[in-house]
Amino acid sequence: MQESAAPECSRATGDCLRAPPAGRIHHTETCGTVDGPGVRFVFFMQGCPMRCLFCHNPDSIGQSGGAAWTADEAVREALRYRNFIQGVTFSGGEPLLQPDFVAELARRLKPEGLSIAIDTAGAPDLPLCTEAINAADLLLLDIKAAGDELARKLTGYSNRRAFTTLDYCEHTGKRVWIRHVLIPGWTLKSRQLEALARRLRPYRCVELIELLPFHQLGAPKWEELGWEYSFRDVPVPSPDVIEEAADFFADMGFLVQ
Ligand code: SF4
Repeated sequence: MQESAAPECSRATGDCLRAPPAGRIHHTETCGTVDGPGVRFVFFMQGCPMRCLFCHNPDSIGQSGGAAWTADEAVREALRYRNFIQGVTFSGGEPLLQPDFVAELARRLKPEGLSIAIDTAGAPDLPLCTEAINAADLLLLDIKAAGDELARKLTGYSNRRAFTTLDYCEHTGKRVWIRHVLIPGWTLKSRQLEALARRLRPYRCVELIELLPFHQLGAPKWEELGWEYSFRDVPVPSPDVIEEAADFFADMGFLVQ
């Protein structure tokens, strides 16, 4: 890793400034099994415009954290594990805040026989991200809430761009897995689940829904950062209610994971 310049992004708009293919990476995981199909090398990118109240990686939000990597360094690192992995996932933080870097790595890693997934909340402006999305095989799209009002309360951000990204995937035939965090008292309400199912049902590009139970593992990181964590008293959902939610989406015709 070198101290090269990394792309800068606007927290206010989520717009990325075009920059040469160098990026800021929070950390990497060599054999990830929960970020896309099979065993994957995962780049957790630094920087996110959202402020999810339940974020379990708040230390990946700020754009000056992590370390600067060149594309050459990142490609070399991922290829060290090529015999053990099926693909590479870009997660975060918000990987699409660094779209040129992600697109460059995807273009170089795909010919090596690795599938490419991008785990995004869809906050950045779509026109800046299409090259990266086009270069990926699969989008793991985090939909935080079906409705805009709840999305703004939970993330400080509209979900409009997330659905614009989903529309783009529909029109281009890009495979999508939806990721959705089940939070008691917030998203884990029948009204909210029904609204999400209704919004997602028309999309043929959606292959499955991954339901992620809210947890408290990120709480200590909020304290370390000196940030107020308002979700301290939100309970963790029981396996029974997670199963009920999964059954609901399955009954609505979705493949659920
Ligand atoms: S989108 Fe992800 S990384 Fe960004 S604030 Fe929300 S949970 Fe944290």
